Amino acid sequence: MEQTLVIFKPSSIQRGLVGRVLDRFESKGLAIAGMKMMQLDEALLREHYAHLVDRPFFHEILDSMTATPVIVLCLRGVEAINVVRMMTGSTNGREAAPGTIRGDFSMSNQENIIHASANAADAEVELKRFFKPGEIFDYSPATMKFINGPSEK
Ligand code: ADP
Repeated sequence: MEQTLVIFKPSSIQRGLVGRVLDRFESKGLAIAGMKMMQLDEALLREHYAHLVDRPFFHEILDSMTATPVIVLCLRGVEAINVVRMMTGSTNGREAAPGTIRGDFSMSNQENIIHASANAADAEVELKRFFKPGEIFDYSPATMKFINGPSEK
């Protein structure tokens, strides 16, 4: 089983989309392993978006991501990192495929509803960045045996 990080960005919170997006993940069969609301600050965002700090639009990312608190979510499931990235869609909401979260709910390159970890290395680092020990829970949903076959782990 893999674990991955999702951040409900201020755009989803302000637009009242948290429930609809969360419903997609639950309906898919991903388990909620951790979830909390928090206010991001510049230091954390400089770390999280280190690959973008030199880009001219970085101050816009800072403004956008600190506009309201965010909700951070740890999802668990077989190949959860790739599944959640596929469900998220490409960065620019105007180009993201219909049926993806960004494709269905975003018209923007910046205000694109959620963050999702890009790969296994990022997921590990990002979960530690946003969750303290004890905030991610290891339990087995009762529906598990109807979500995956016994050899799918
Ligand atoms: P992703 O979120 O799809 O992994 P990136 O890591 O490239 O994409 O970018 C991180 C976030 O920075 C994006 O989700 C988006 O909110 C913002 N961003 C990326 N490119 C731009 C841009 N050209 N203009 C404004 N914001 C951007």
